[in-house]
Parts: sequence; structure tokens; C-alpha cells
Amino acid sequence: MKHRLIIIFPMLALLVFFAVQGFMIISIWKQEKENTLMRYESLTREATSVLLRAKKFNGFEKAMDITDKFAGLVVEEKLPELSRKADTANLKEKVLSQTYAILQKNEVLSSFINEYIKKKGYSTDYKSFIWISYLSLLSEKGQFIIADTVPDKDKIKKTIIVVNTYKEEHNNFVIEYSFLVDLTEINSLVFRKAFFSILLITFSVLIVVLIFWLTLRNLMEERRLSGLKSDFINNMTHELKTPLSTITVAGRTLEKPQINTDPDKVLETAKMISKQSVNLNQLINTILEVSLLERTEFELDRHKVNADELTHQIVSSYLTSCDGCATIREEYKAPGTLVAVDIVYFTTMINNLLANAVKYCDKDPVIIVSTGVADNEFHVSITDNGIGIPHEHIDHIFDKFYRVPHGNIHKIKGLGLGLYYVKRIATAHGGDVSVSSRPDRGSTFKIRIPI
Ligand code: ADP
Repeated sequence: MKHRLIIIFPMLALLVFFAVQGFMIISIWKQEKENTLMRYESLTREATSVLLRAKKFNGFEKAMDITDKFAGLVVEEKLPELSRKADTANLKEKVLSQTYAILQKNEVLSSFINEYIKKKGYSTDYKSFIWISYLSLLSEKGQFIIADTVPDKDKIKKTIIVVNTYKEEHNNFVIEYSFLVDLTEINSLVFRKAFFSILLITFSVLIVVLIFWLTLRNLMEERRLSGLKSDFINNMTHELKTPLSTITVAGRTLEKPQINTDPDKVLETAKMISKQSVNLNQLINTILEVSLLERTEFELDRHKVNADELTHQIVSSYLTSCDGCATIREEYKAPGTLVAVDIVYFTTMINNLLANAVKYCDKDPVIIVSTGVADNEFHVSITDNGIGIPHEHIDHIFDKFYRVPHGNIHKIKGLGLGLYYVKRIATAHGGDVSVSSRPDRGSTFKIRIPI
């Protein structure tokens, strides 16, 4: 529960952090959008007033002259002909679209604004257009209204700027029109402006995520190691208790007066005590060696030896010491190969692998010890017909204190140090150890040492 909280709280903090950063990006975006709109609004208005001040000109003079002529013609030729409603509608539509075409073709304001904005160093990624809200033709009979629309402010897009609205009366027509700039493409402009800030925020988010991930990974590793350590302490206590309790029982046996009459029993008990003391001593030595290994680097006392011969000697003495506990087939394929090894450590390595091959076997152990030379390396493989190692544990078995859980952890005794020791010795020799295994079929451990 406590461990879960350790993960849940930072996760929540990370989520809050994401939310804050997301909020910041949105705010920056909104702010930048507003700024851009305001900037373009003032730029376009500035441009129109500059044009008016400098040239006494609003940019629509020519367009208005042409429209006036066009309006005059319409008034003269078309208006008297109108009889039906449909004709009126048709004429209005034509006159309006024609007026739009004249204005667009002959106005010079948009190109002036474009130049002005470009000169100020801003992008011209926008569209400008004219909107006629009122147009009427002036005839002798009175006004003939072509268009009269009140703009619905809510319907005008927020990205449209009304630069200026003009009301003019000429000989043949009255008009009210606006010059507008459409900044629908504003997002790309805003993105260019806000890019650096967004990049910085994204970068900081990535860094925080990375740090978070590394911390979490370390935390998990710490948890795993502390779990392994407590397993180790349990196993070690158990391993130490077994020989100690045998010795205690043997001591009590020797205390009994009637034992004096049975010298065989005395001898048997003494042998038991000495065997268990050896076991105890070996156990303590293993623990001491490993803790020593942790503190100091290996100091190897390397000698060039005939690798096949040394391996054979180790296998033979192992068989003797374990009273022929296994059938071992030896296949030596590196005759005469000399390897520089620390004989004591090399022996420990092979012994550990042989002991595991016997220990983790649920039938009569049959072991194959084979050697060879490849790529300038001497290799020795130990193959067994044991219980094998489940795939998910393979990557961890060389870790310190790691033991594959076998249901009841104490059923097969061990401290999870043997393979760790093998790996460290092999790498100290400049080589390595690898394993391939299939559950219920057996395992092969292969040590490689450079020649
Ligand atoms: P220990 O034997 O003390 O548990 P080791 O470091 O020697 O520690 O081995 C680590 C684990 O690897 C063992 O717990 C065991 O599950 C597995 N293992 C090692 N050698 C073999 C083998 N030959 N066959 C099956 N499993 C093995």
C-alpha cells in the first residue's frame, strides 16, 4: 500500500504538471492570436490613414468613377424597361455583382496595405475583400435600391477585421461599403509566433517525463533489490540453521553418559559434527567472498594452463567429493589450448555450475561437460537434464540474490549467489557466461574466456 502511494502521488503530480503545461500552451496560443489580430488591425488601419494623408486618396477613387458611369448607364437604359418583379430582382443581382467586380478590379487599397505590411516585416498570409452593405441608383424618379443589408455583427467571423467603412454619394449612385481583411489563416501565423514558447514547454515536459521515468525505474529496481535481499536473509538463516541444529543435536548426544559404551556411535557423531562444520564454514566463506567482491575489484592470479586438462581435473574431483552424484559425459575439443586463468576462481565457477546442474534436477542427473575454441575464445559448456529455467527468469538469474521461485523457496536450498559469482568471475577474466534453457528439458551454461 505504501509502495503504491509512492508511485500514485508522483503520477498525480505529473498529471497536474501536464494539465498546467497544457493550460499554458492554450493561454499562450489565445494571447498570441489576440495579439496578431490586434497587430493586423492597427497595421491595416495605419496603412489606410497613411494612404489618405500622403495622397489624399482612399484607394477607391477610380473604382467609384467607373461605378458612377456604369450606374448612369443602368439608370438610363435598364430602369425604364423594368416591368415585372422578376426583372427587378434580376437587375439588382446583376448590378450588385458588376459593382463588386468593378470595385475589386479598380481599387488600389489592398495592394497598398499589402506593401505596407510587408515593409513592416509581417506576413501577408491573409485575404482582403470588399463588402457592400448599401447601394442605390439615383434616377430622376428617385432612388432605386440595389442592396441594403445591416451587417449582423455576431455572424462576422472573429478573424475578420473591418479596416474601414466608407459612405459615398456620386452623381448616379449612393454606396456604403467596407474594406475587410480575413485572417482565417491566422493559425499558421500564430504558430510561427508561438512556436518557440511551445517548443520550450514541450521540451520541459519531455525532460520532466524522462526524469520521472528514470526515478520510477530506480524506485522499482530498489524495490526489487530489497525484496531479493529479504529473500536472501530468509534463505541464509535457513541454510545456517540446518548445520547448526545438527551440531547441537550431536553435542547433546555426546553429553549422554551411555554413549561412552558405544565408540562407533561416538565416531559417527564426531564425523557428523565435522561434516556440518565444514558445511557451515563453506557457507560463511561464500557469504564473505561475495561481500568482499562487492567492496574490492577482483585480483586474479592468472596462470597459463591447459584448459581441457584443468576442466577434467575439476570435474573428476567434483565427482569424488559428491560421491558420484551424477553421470558426467566429458567432450573435450580444445586439446592443448592454453588459457590464462585464476585456477581457484575458475574451479569455483565450474563447481558452482556442476552443483546447480545436480541441485536443479528432478531425475538422475546426466551432465555433459564440453569444451571448444572459437573466435579466439576458449569455451566450456555444462549441459544438464534438469528442471530448466522459465523464460521470464532467464534475464535475472545472474543477478545477486536472485532465485527462481519454486513454490516453496526452501525446498531447494541456495542463496542466489552462485551464478552471480560465476558471472563476475567470467567477466573478470574478460569473458562472459550465457545460458540457454527449456523448462523440464534442461539448461546449458556456457563460459567464454579469451585465449
Ligand atoms: P542458488 O542456487 O543458490 O539459488 P544461483 O545463483 O546458483 O543461486 O542460481 C540462481 C537461480 O537460477 C536458482 O535459484 C535456480 O532457480 C536457477 N538455476 C541455476 N542453475 C540452474 C540449472 N542448472 N537448472 C535450473 N535452474 C537453475
